[in-house]
Amino acid sequence: MNLEFFDMPVLAMRGANIFPHTVISLDIQRNISINAVEEAMRRGQRIFVSAQKDAMCEMPKFDDVYEYGVIAKIKQLLRLPNNNLRILIEGESIAKIVAFNSRRPYISGKLCAVELNPVKRVTKKVEAMVRHLTDLFGEYFSLSNYIPPEALIMINSVTDDTDKFSYLIATNINAPVDKKQSILEIFTTAKRLEALIKLLISEIEILKIENDIENKVREKIDKHQKEYFLREQIKVIQTELGDREDISLEVNEYLNKLKKYNLTDEVKEKVLDEIKRLQLMPAGSHEATVVRTYLDTLFDLPWNYKTKENLNLSKCEKVLEKDHYGLCKVKERILEYLAVKDTAPKKNGMIICLIGPPGVGKTSVVSSIAKAIGRNFVRLSLGGVRDEADIRGHRKTYIGAMPGRIINAVKLAGSSNPLILLDEIDKMASDFRGDPAAALLEVLDKEQNHNFRDHYLEVPFDLSDVMFITTANSAATIPPALYDRLEIIELSSYTYLEKFNIAKKHLLPKQLKEHNITKSQVNISDSALKEVIDFYTMEAGVRNLEREIATLVRKAIFEIKRDSLLKVTITDKNVSKYLGVRKFIKQNEEYENEAGVVNGLAYTSYGGTMLTVEANVLDGSGNIELTGKLGDVMKESAKAAICYIRAKADELNIDKEFYNKKDIHIHVPEGATPKD
Ligand code: ADP
Repeated sequence: MNLEFFDMPVLAMRGANIFPHTVISLDIQRNISINAVEEAMRRGQRIFVSAQKDAMCEMPKFDDVYEYGVIAKIKQLLRLPNNNLRILIEGESIAKIVAFNSRRPYISGKLCAVELNPVKRVTKKVEAMVRHLTDLFGEYFSLSNYIPPEALIMINSVTDDTDKFSYLIATNINAPVDKKQSILEIFTTAKRLEALIKLLISEIEILKIENDIENKVREKIDKHQKEYFLREQIKVIQTELGDREDISLEVNEYLNKLKKYNLTDEVKEKVLDEIKRLQLMPAGSHEATVVRTYLDTLFDLPWNYKTKENLNLSKCEKVLEKDHYGLCKVKERILEYLAVKDTAPKKNGMIICLIGPPGVGKTSVVSSIAKAIGRNFVRLSLGGVRDEADIRGHRKTYIGAMPGRIINAVKLAGSSNPLILLDEIDKMASDFRGDPAAALLEVLDKEQNHNFRDHYLEVPFDLSDVMFITTANSAATIPPALYDRLEIIELSSYTYLEKFNIAKKHLLPKQLKEHNITKSQVNISDSALKEVIDFYTMEAGVRNLEREIATLVRKAIFEIKRDSLLKVTITDKNVSKYLGVRKFIKQNEEYENEAGVVNGLAYTSYGGTMLTVEANVLDGSGNIELTGKLGDVMKESAKAAICYIRAKADELNIDKEFYNKKDIHIHVPEGATPKD
């Protein structure tokens, strides 16, 4: 380094570097810089230019500029209207600044010149580096879109002057000031070339990434524009076809509905998606119909509407008492259930299951519970359900898909807190299409049912406010997993007296009311009711009894109208006039012992009955014959009886040959009567 110091005005440059052999244009704004340039003009147009370390610094001190800079010649000076200067400077040589003198209106520095260490002989390595740099700069040029093409031509034309070549490349790279400064501070040409190669490679990488990002963003914007364009085109086509308006009306209607319903975000999003889809479809298309049905179903559901529940126990008790005779156990249990529901609404309660033969009032007692507590009532028959999709619905991609029975029931109920009666859960079957009982378990489980997902709806529906009560005819066929969750209440068949009371206090008044006629016009006596119970019905419940009473009332009204009568009285004597001959004969229990005949007890779906068993002995070869429609249990009992007698043959003085020469014929007359 030449250690001769000299003094020169200093220009601190912000956000850029200058290299020897390069020309740049600068706008000068700061006063200290303007003064420095003017001083330089007076002193042979030379100025020392060094980059500022921090571009934001307004009044740079010695430490704020890099110590190595370039002595440049001011080639042109232009005064701009706002007192600013525009200068064109050409870098000449590198110098080092060792001190600052900022006492004057400009900064001047104490400098010493820096001598370069140029290549004396162009080695193969230098040659290779120059070529490589040329290629790299070509690539950099093609990736970057701000380098003027002249720069490329100029660089390619100075490959012989390696210093100039390297400085020109450094000037044209858009790298941060500190990185470019480090190139300036390399005085050995070969090393500078090497550093430039590294810098260029890294800048090329960065440019590639930048370009990649830009392309992706542009692609996205292009795609949006394309979609928008296509949508607009579809709109135009649909308007031409004349169905656009219908669809926009519909869409607006759905959007208005959406505003009115207070739906959860998930449901809202789904509805909006579907509305958007609808917007793009031709009005008459099959797909549009599917979407429309779906949206209508969604909006038909009572998302937020609840009926006001009445948990006033004494009022409930009154309603239950008024509607049904007897059934004390059921009423008591229901009232307890309601009481607990009042004190602990969230209690993960069991599901009540009423088990009993047909016609004992299971359905009607549940409907009067609904009435008593102020919930809407829906009955859902599960008989014959064998597919999970019955409960949970079909995905809407299926043709004719619908929501499952549960969601349908809620829709029918019109409130989100109805009482749903799941009738005949014992008649549910399962097969290869999935197990409906499993789906039903989810419906009944308080832990899960606030988030019930129907396949058709696709969005969750809250079933936690729904009250479920189930019924079954027999506990034996309820799917075991379901049975565990149920609280069984058994309703047994009615006794004769109960039937009579139910008929007198409930069924008859009900029928008279339904037929809009008074007791004084159609007078059905107690004896008539008893006659009907005894000889026209044989059942555990009272369904047929109700039907027969309805027939009596109907026929009596017919008679009144036909013969212009004021009144018809029906007693046991004239029941047959209306209902025909007696349908059942009263059982004749055998009170006297008779050879070959015994009384037996039997249990049928109509309740307990007595039946006679007759035995006959005939000549034969030891066969036992059982006749009548006997079940396996009866057959077994008959055989057990014969075994018992044979085992005691000696005691009973039965001839040894009896079982070889005689046939025993056992007959159950009752079993031969078809009842079903
Ligand atoms: P299930 O559902 O058990 O088959 P239902 O509820 O359909 O029976 O009852 C059949 C009819 O009998 C209904 O009209 C019902 O009102 C009537 N009924 C049954 N039990 C009683 C009762 N204890 N009191 C009054 N009516 C009854």
